[in-house]
Amino acid sequence: MKKIALIGSTGSIGRQTLSVVRKNPDKFEIVSLAAGNNVGEFLAQVSEFKPKVATIGATENLKDKLPLETEFFCGEDAYLNAIVSDADVVVVALVGFKGIIAVLDAIEKGKDIALATKESLVVGGELVIQKAREKGVKITPIDSEHSAIWQALGFDFDTPFNKLILTCSGGAFRDMSEEQLKTVTAADALKHPNWNMGAKITVDCATLVNKAFEVIEAKWLYNTSFDKIDVIIHRQSIIHSMVEFVDGAVMAQLSYPTMELPICLALNYPERISVGLKSLDFASLRSLTFEEIDHKRFPCFNLVLQAAKEGGLFPAVANGANEEAVKLFLENRIGYGDIYKSIYGALQSFDGGHHVHIEELTEADAFARKYVRDLNGV
Ligand code: MG
Repeated sequence: MKKIALIGSTGSIGRQTLSVVRKNPDKFEIVSLAAGNNVGEFLAQVSEFKPKVATIGATENLKDKLPLETEFFCGEDAYLNAIVSDADVVVVALVGFKGIIAVLDAIEKGKDIALATKESLVVGGELVIQKAREKGVKITPIDSEHSAIWQALGFDFDTPFNKLILTCSGGAFRDMSEEQLKTVTAADALKHPNWNMGAKITVDCATLVNKAFEVIEAKWLYNTSFDKIDVIIHRQSIIHSMVEFVDGAVMAQLSYPTMELPICLALNYPERISVGLKSLDFASLRSLTFEEIDHKRFPCFNLVLQAAKEGGLFPAVANGANEEAVKLFLENRIGYGDIYKSIYGALQSFDGGHHVHIEELTEADAFARKYVRDLNGV
């Protein structure tokens, strides 16, 4: 029985993790969960899974509404209480920068991590990987591309390879012209062609910021360099990523899109569990297609990668600026093009150092967010 601490239980990955647990009660147990602000769903989850510890970001005291045996914490930083001592693995599925706080806390407590919050490796990959090594903590990926690579490597992070090839659906704006991109809205961005995910990541998919983040995530998880990671647009989202080996052989992982497969493997590798996926019907798929990224329409991809290559605190600035800009875009206060301008401007105005500790990362994140709010007059 694997005991799971679930950080970010009411988001898309959190709900799908609970779905996996619900279907496999003989394999998994939720010992703690941490939710954001969705009180109704939090109460339903706690009553169903009866965790020992439950926390919510909202400040409302819900103790009276919870089972007696559940210890309850509330408030902005309450989620750290859900990283409990009897968990075997911590699923980190918070959105955005604060994921790194949970990741570092779990590492400090010596807990293995099933990682959905890629931002934690984007902003502090070096710090996270170094600390995880020191503590002997395993980080397994809950990101379909990185799971595909991990599967192709035989669940061995040290298998040598020539290059990693990340696939990318192209996002909701893949067929929009430059002219159309001037007027697209948050509602348009949220119509992802293949995946049903949370709002922030769906916008990141539309701008291709998500794919740049995934390149950075792959660099840290697979201990490689940027020149050994390629990205190719693959509209069907059937091939989830590939690995090319020294002899030219390429291994790919294929399936219909579902996050339950990467979640199960991150929790239970190398054993595979049915997640109810249909067999691939190749005859009806007919063709799998590949295209290059159009950098003119999707300039954020290279911009974010450039920040990552610069290293130090620059990826944290790019991430903070993106998070703030996406928030404003989702509130219909800025346009699609303003996301690029926000990240670009924040990176240009930043003259911070290369000293990557959590305090400096937090400052760089705050700098970028303030810059973006000022730039866009909010
Ligand atoms: Mg992904």
